Amino acid sequence: MSHLSFIKESINAKLISPSGEAVEKIIEIRTHPITGRTCRIAISRMGQSEPGTDAFPEPPPDARNAAHCPFCRPRVESETPRLFHGLSPDGRLTYGDSILFPNLFPYGRYSAVSLFDNAHFVELGTALLPSYTGCFINCRNYLGQVLTHDPRAVYMAITQNHLPSAGGSLIHPHLQINADRIPANHHRFLKERTGAYFQQTGRHLFSDYVNHEKNDGSRYIGKTGNWEWMTAFAPEGFYEIWGILPGVTSLRTREDQVWKDLSDGVLNAQKFYRSLCRNGYNLGILSIETPSSHAELRVVLIVRSNYAAWVRNDHTGFELMLGDMTTFTLPEDTAALARPFWE
Ligand SMILES: [Zn+2]
Repeated sequence: MSHLSFIKESINAKLISPSGEAVEKIIEIRTHPITGRTCRIAISRMGQSEPGTDAFPEPPPDARNAAHCPFCRPRVESETPRLFHGLSPDGRLTYGDSILFPNLFPYGRYSAVSLFDNAHFVELGTALLPSYTGCFINCRNYLGQVLTHDPRAVYMAITQNHLPSAGGSLIHPHLQINADRIPANHHRFLKERTGAYFQQTGRHLFSDYVNHEKNDGSRYIGKTGNWEWMTAFAPEGFYEIWGILPGVTSLRTREDQVWKDLSDGVLNAQKFYRSLCRNGYNLGILSIETPSSHAELRVVLIVRSNYAAWVRNDHTGFELMLGDMTTFTLPEDTAALARPFWE
């Protein structure tokens, strides 16, 4: 039996349409089973297409101009910083085609950048599996070095901002890695929530979440290895997809196959997003590297506004000021559209 609540309720807004007809428009309010936060699905906007998504956008202006990119070789050797000796005697970590080095503008005590390879611009949905697998393994190796050096830096994250509309400052594809002694808000919340859930039930929160979603089936998408993929019940962004690795709480000690399977699912999601003519997205995986952590690994992927001229931002006054994400697609419809990319 699941102790998680999947609550949806519909409300109606009455109005007189421009043609003079009395109509009622439906808004579905969903409560997030893990955070308790509400989100809204504006059903009446479902048929409306977002401006700038009728075709896949043109590449950004810098896509063909790598002359000044600090991440392209050979400039990456001279224009990016090096890790201090306690973390790596070589100054950079490499794995396959991936190179990892510190973030020149750090966001935390251990803040690094991991390049996939020397390709300066990669359109969403066209990346190759070995580039993602190697880059994730490079991140894993770095986080292992961090924890050996500083056992208190247990709050870890791997993130991606693909294109400037998702927060990316350089279009050359890369992941960001962060580790700190001080938790971010989501680390703090996940630690408390997964710990309390384990105390109450003796079970792991995300494992129960996956079991619920597999039994329900309406948002479940598929598997890649042991990773289970589904759309978020109460999305905090457009076309939000989760991959959960049940029973695993550490980013550090996993065999390489886990990262290949993760990359498989991430690339499936990217191809799905491309099919929707979206070119920007964010990805994130968090971990709390303590033996007592009950926070299992979960990767979250969210489509962002297209990086194209005059496309509106996806966070409006409603999201920023009221705190409820409003999306225009039912997660069950998103799952139906995404499933073919996992077959
Ligand atoms: Zn480049």
